[in-house]
Amino acid sequence: MNRKKLQKLAESLCRTAKHFNKIEVECLIKLFHTLVVEPSDRHAVIGLDRNTFRNILHVTFGMTDDMIMDRDCFEVYDLNGDGYISREEMFHMLKNSLLKQPSEEDPDEGIKDLVEITLKKMDYDHDGKLSYTDFEKAVRDENLLLEAFGPCLPDIKSSMAFEMEAFQETGDM
Ligand code: CA
Ligand code: CA
Repeated sequence: MNRKKLQKLAESLCRTAKHFNKIEVECLIKLFHTLVVEPSDRHAVIGLDRNTFRNILHVTFGMTDDMIMDRDCFEVYDLNGDGYISREEMFHMLKNSLLKQPSEEDPDEGIKDLVEITLKKMDYDHDGKLSYTDFEKAVRDENLLLEAFGPCLPDIKSSMAFEMEAFQETGDM
């Protein structure tokens, strides 16, 4: 990647990734390119595979697989990324995962009840939403709650596939 292209990419990434400044973004792009193997077919998707990514998290950040899985699940459920799973987000996810089953007369009422039951069980500090701390505590007590709002691990796989597709679409900067 040449210098001009790198700067242009860094500038556009800076607009969305506000946690990083331009120099940091440039470094991340360079790091990214040392980690990925350029495919011989220029139309192929460039990216990290899951094992490489896990390996980096493990080696660089000393993370264990369990931690990644806990964290992953929470972020999948926190749809707007504000750090909390809200009643609305629970409702949305439960509706999506339950509608695949035969529907009741008024499924929305049933889902609302389910949201309240789940909150009662998982909302340890009673603020009406699930923080990561609430979620982690609840999952440690009851492992099945890890997928409380629908199967999240396959969703990560498909959302990653989706992201790769999406980035591929807009990748020609
Ligand atoms: Ca949220
Ligand atoms: Ca809470």
